[in-house]
This record gives sequence, structure tokens and C-alpha cells, in this order.
Amino acid sequence: MQMIHSVKEMNKTIRQMKSSGKTIGFVPTMGFLHEGHQSLISQAKEMCDIVVLSIFVNPTQFGPNEDYLTYPRDIKRDKMIAEEEGVDIIFNPDADEMYPLGESMLVKVNDRVDVLCGRSRPGHFDGVATILIKLFNIIMPDKVFFGLKDAQQVAVVDSIIKNFHYPIQLIPCETKREEDGLAKSSRNVRLSADERQEAALLNKGLQEGLLLINKGERSVSRIKKCVTLFLETHLRLGKIDYVEVLSYPELQSATSITERFIIACAVQYKEARLIDNIVADLDPDLKGEQKQYVAHIDEK
Ligand code: AMP
Repeated sequence: MQMIHSVKEMNKTIRQMKSSGKTIGFVPTMGFLHEGHQSLISQAKEMCDIVVLSIFVNPTQFGPNEDYLTYPRDIKRDKMIAEEEGVDIIFNPDADEMYPLGESMLVKVNDRVDVLCGRSRPGHFDGVATILIKLFNIIMPDKVFFGLKDAQQVAVVDSIIKNFHYPIQLIPCETKREEDGLAKSSRNVRLSADERQEAALLNKGLQEGLLLINKGERSVSRIKKCVTLFLETHLRLGKIDYVEVLSYPELQSATSITERFIIACAVQYKEARLIDNIVADLDPDLKGEQKQYVAHIDEK
């Protein structure tokens, strides 16, 4: 496994690999790896010749009062995990390397960001899009792997690829969870023992919404109310930031759920903001039953 810190070396290495006909799978992360990241890596390994993992805590996607400085970091441990998973190259630049001219130019995302985390974290997806465009230009991947845990991010990446004409296939990957249903996240280490126990209820709340849909409910406001009520009733420590039911990946609101939809929530704990969602398809063949969506948005 190669560890590369400079853009120049990364670019040179990728060009060599591409000229020998190898396909490149790219998994962007902020490090502090867990099984969610590992599942992305193993899918990339299955589908591509070379797997590049980036580890970079991107300053431009954090708001002024967010956790950029305290975001968990452990590059030594990450290196060991990546090696075990069979990653070929870790790209681990520092902020000056990625932003040689500071923040003199940032991408502005206008679509799919006025809801969910985009609304709660103004400018977040501008930072995400900026860093991803830089990384896509340097790494020139054939396929990119993103977790549906961050479903709005997947929707924004889908839009970046289409808007900027990248010849890249987006592979959305299923959310990996703890046994009690809590979505794995680097930020989970920041929960107190009581908060950790309570956090499993986020997914239970979303599942309540899904249950209602499976019983035939199609009204967005009633599904939203059901999830909100569950969380309001059961959460003692976390504060609800949002509960939303939207079309996916367009992230439009409607009065009744559309073919592919997302039920999403965000809850603020003392030291960690948690998000979770369910993306699912209404399948007419299943007479109103839904099936969990883990397929590709954009088959090429
Ligand atoms: P992060 O390091 O949190 O920026 O995440 C890097 C990538 O891993 C993103 O595409 C995330 O959506 C994905 N990811 C994070 N948590 C999970 C999870 N529990 N299951 C699957 N993918 C995840």
C-alpha cells in the first residue's frame, strides 16, 4: 500500500496506472475508519483494479461553530485498517496542499441543498462539492463509492457528476449499522454511555415511518408526524434538528410520497450531531409494500 501526501505525486501515480489500463475505484473519507468505510472499500475492491482511499478532514465543509478541530483523527490506525482491507493507495494531503490559494474559489451548490443538512448547515455542501471536484480532478476515478448514510451527499454527488460531465459512475452503498440499529459513524465515539443507548432510537423512529407506509399510508405529513412523535416521545437527551420525508434523489417535498423517497432525521447530542435515513422505493408490483433501496441511482 502506498501513502501519498502530495497532489503532484498522486497525479503522476494515477496517470501511470491509467496508462496501463487499470480501472480506479475511489472512496473519499475524513478518516477515523469504521465498518461503514470498510464496506465501501470492499465494494470498490470488487468492482475496480485499483482502490484509492482519501483521508482528509475538509475545513471548508465545517461551519464556524462546528467540530473541524475536534473531529476524531487517528491516521496510524486508519493506515492499518486500510492495509488490511487491501487499499492500494491512501491519499492523505494536508489543507495547504488541497487549498494552495486558500478559499479564493469555492463551488456553489444551488440544487438539493435547501433541505435536511443543507438547511441546518449553510455552506456545508459548497465545501463538500469543492473538495470532491478537486479530488475527482486529481484521482480521475472510474467509479466513486459513497455511503447512503449521507444520502443528501449522494444526491449532491449525483448532481456534481452530471453538472460537470465527469465520466464517473456513482455507486451508492448501504448503511452499516451497530446491532441495535445505530448507523456507524466516526462521531459516535463522542456520545456518552446514556446518549449512545438512546441513539439507537433514531433508526427505530424512521422504521416506524416505514411501517406506516407498509400499512398503506402515503401522506407525507402523516408519515412525518409519526416519526416526529416517536422521537419526541422517546428521546430524553437528544434534540431533534429535523424530520423530513422527501422525494429521492431530487429532495423535493410533496403531499404524498413518490416512487423513490427518503425519510431522514438529524438529532443533536451534547458533543455529536447524528443523522440517519431510510431511502426506499414504492414498488407497484408489491401492492404498496416497499423495498429498501440500495441499488444504483445512475446505471451506466
Ligand atoms: P466520512 O468519513 O464520514 O466523511 O464518510 C466517508 C464515506 O463513508 C461517506 O461516503 C459516508 O457516507 C460513508 N459512510 C459513513 N458512515 C457509513 C455507514 N455507517 N455505512 C456506510 N457508509 C458510511
